[in-house]
Amino acid sequence: MEPMEIAILGAGGFIGSHLVEHLAASDAHHVTAVDISSRKLAGIPRTNFTFLHADVRTDRTVTDAVIHDADLVVDLVAYANPSRYVTAPLEVFELNFLQNLEIAKSCITHGKRLVQYSSAEVYGKAVDGTTYSEDRSDLIFGPVQKQRWIYGSAKALLERVLYAHGMAGDLEYTIFRPFNFLGSRIDYLVPAHATGGPRVFPHFLSALLTGGPIRLVDGGHVRRAFLHIDDGNAAFQAILDDPDQSRNQIFNVGNPANNTTVREFAHLMIDVYEELTGRTATSRIVEISGEAFYGKGYEDGDRLPPDISKLQCLGWSPEHDLRTTIRDAMRGYLRDVEDGYEPPQLAGLQERGGAP
Ligand code: UDP
Repeated sequence: MEPMEIAILGAGGFIGSHLVEHLAASDAHHVTAVDISSRKLAGIPRTNFTFLHADVRTDRTVTDAVIHDADLVVDLVAYANPSRYVTAPLEVFELNFLQNLEIAKSCITHGKRLVQYSSAEVYGKAVDGTTYSEDRSDLIFGPVQKQRWIYGSAKALLERVLYAHGMAGDLEYTIFRPFNFLGSRIDYLVPAHATGGPRVFPHFLSALLTGGPIRLVDGGHVRRAFLHIDDGNAAFQAILDDPDQSRNQIFNVGNPANNTTVREFAHLMIDVYEELTGRTATSRIVEISGEAFYGKGYEDGDRLPPDISKLQCLGWSPEHDLRTTIRDAMRGYLRDVEDGYEPPQLAGLQERGGAP
């Protein structure tokens, strides 16, 4: 049987690089991995995948040809760092909505199934309820002057447009809403005392490696449910194996059992760091305001854990508890630091990556 041709746009980011690694391990697929950087794809055997250097913003003909030739299109193109939403809201809108829309249009033109990575951020703030449900929960954003919400708003609008195309009968799609995927290669390390930039895990790990402070934004009281990246890959496999039940559906992809406050997460990271390195952590835990850390226009919301019953109906369930999730991510990062692939102190690296 011919292998399935899967085009992954934004394959060079955190989620993309792990997905390529997962899919390329099987002869059942061939992956065309499109991105502006292949750095995170280094070391993945090239047997079942090809890297294509292209920028979806400027190389539209190339992207369109890749979509034309694919059996399945996966869209992971996005800025996914809250710091970016605050400092460059228009870039976030341009990439995360306008460019993603172009990809969807190309899928419509060529009649291709689209797997769109969206985000848990479409739920916005937690107001009431105990879990987020894909097809029942309201999507609630803060005021316009808090430009952090442009990311969730752009993703939510994109979802609504895909849904409308599904209604019109001209697009077959599946939407994923990832809840804080965690694994090696997530963002990058930063110097001690750096603000903004990467997501919470690399920030805390940078602090542990440099002895700098672990900063809890606004006290670290909000909750996040972290998902092991391998469980994220397994979720993708579940919808790949069941196109009928996943057709024109939205799925939460997260682990409600790993729901924790950012403060508890910091303590667990310290614990795992000491276990893995045999060293005593010297970082102090301090508090910082959201505006001081990210800049004006940052606002955070508490987040409810995902209701995952919809994806469980396809036979998927997350398997990794929080400690294992942190341990695997940290082990991967420490190995990269040791190999010289990820220097312990990086300044000014370009921010980019897939969905959170
Ligand atoms: N955060 C923190 N300290 C840091 C980095 C992030 O307290 O050094 C907080 C951030 O304010 C948010 C949570 O950690 O409440 C998760 O942030 P992240 O950027 O990882 O992802 P999000 O889920 O907000 O998209």
